[in-house]
Amino acid sequence: MQQVRVRFAPSPTGPLHIGGVRTALYNYLFAKKNKGIFILRIEDTDQTRFVEGAEEYIMESLKWCGMKIDEGIIEGGNYGPYRQSDKKLQYRQYADMLMNNGDAYYAFDTPGKLEELRISAEREGNAFIYNASIRDNMRNSLSMPESKWKELLEKEEPYVIRYKMPLNEDVHCDDMIRGHIVVNTSTLDDKVLIKADGMPTYHLAHLVDDHLMKISHVIRGEEWLPSLPLHFLLYRSFGWEKPLFAHLPLLLKPDGKGKLSKRDGDKMGFPVFPLFWPYGETAKGYREEGYYPEAFVNMLALLGWNPGTEQEIFTMDELINAFSIERVHKSGSRFDPEKAKWFNHHYLQLRSNNELALEFRDYLRAQGYHHDIGDLEAIISLVKERVSFVKDIWRETDFFFKSPDVYDKEVIKKRWKPETPAQLLELKAFLDERDTFTPQITEQAVKGWIEKKEYNTGDVMNAFRLVIVGASRGPHLFDIISFIGKEETLMRIEKGIAVIGNKVQ
Ligand code: GLU
Repeated sequence: MQQVRVRFAPSPTGPLHIGGVRTALYNYLFAKKNKGIFILRIEDTDQTRFVEGAEEYIMESLKWCGMKIDEGIIEGGNYGPYRQSDKKLQYRQYADMLMNNGDAYYAFDTPGKLEELRISAEREGNAFIYNASIRDNMRNSLSMPESKWKELLEKEEPYVIRYKMPLNEDVHCDDMIRGHIVVNTSTLDDKVLIKADGMPTYHLAHLVDDHLMKISHVIRGEEWLPSLPLHFLLYRSFGWEKPLFAHLPLLLKPDGKGKLSKRDGDKMGFPVFPLFWPYGETAKGYREEGYYPEAFVNMLALLGWNPGTEQEIFTMDELINAFSIERVHKSGSRFDPEKAKWFNHHYLQLRSNNELALEFRDYLRAQGYHHDIGDLEAIISLVKERVSFVKDIWRETDFFFKSPDVYDKEVIKKRWKPETPAQLLELKAFLDERDTFTPQITEQAVKGWIEKKEYNTGDVMNAFRLVIVGASRGPHLFDIISFIGKEETLMRIEKGIAVIGNKVQ
């Protein structure tokens, strides 16, 4: 079999959408499964849409996901340049090849004229198609005598080069996911191959590059499926062997209605980009939201592909092993933000307390708290199962690091009795007398003290937790006070009484 060579070919027009990352991933998995080559090609022939920083963003995203590029703008390779703008006008010679064999022609129609025709066709409820049906009435090298169009060329009149779509032909295409597709050329445009600025369009540039780079399989988004018949015809016109094609299904909104967009993410609070986008209108990224790359990749892989088994958890190597184009779905895949969290929860549980403590220490440092790794490991072991992200550890354990700023109103209503401040002051004095503050011994002592005093255990313990934590949540109270220590415990009792005490009379 011919060597598998696939390419991910994004246009650097902004941050890479997660749909694009999934396209890259499927290309990568397919390449690695087949011991092939994964190429990154930057498609930037449309300079008006070029966005500064997008190229670096694309490469950083692939790196974060663990997709290693074999050939690309940084890695080099034998089939470069891998950035289309670096080839500048080299594409023109390929358009000329088609001119020479009669499959392409010059068209001098002005944008204004084309717009006028489009509007009038639409007014009559028709789509405007520039092909054999109207070609002879337009200003081009097929409708005009040779002397005339040559004169226009000499006068440097702006022109484009269009593909000459054959008249009334059924084009038979094959797609590895969609199967056999037949389209009649009467519904297809004489697509522009070279624009008025001399640059190639996507249709010409990608096809020339796929040929020159010996691409064996073109795996790309569904939005390119309507262009497939044109691409089949172009391969025929050039007399080149075609790669195989696979068009990937769309990523849909969580409600299944339409394509997943940035606005859905903004509305529902989940990112639609792999990394934070720092330029212009900024956008959230999975990495900065605290997702692990292995969770992100695992989730993406299953959005549009299934292994044919119940297995949901896959490492990158397992994905490579299990992946096949045949199991990519035909219909769109609904994005599920909750499932994304579920994957992260899973991968966080696989991390050791020590690994998490190191990550959490960085998080704490950023907020000005400095703690021993051993202490953090102990805290993490208390809440690990409840958290999906490192930042959740803070939500679950903030009271280990700082005294409460607010006190839960419901708990106050239920547990804060007129006698509570006096009881807590007594408890404070009792704790002040104690030399050891280890959880078990302190618990025994405090419970014994409550019993002796014949106080209501529930009321005292809940009020005690309220002044320490600010609410009724959290792990074992005596673990908490042992961690924060005697001085802080006494201070919190005092603060709690001062803040809550007078509110309830
Ligand atoms: N530059 C195209 C895009 O960003 C690539 C499509 C393809 O893979 O052929 O959609």
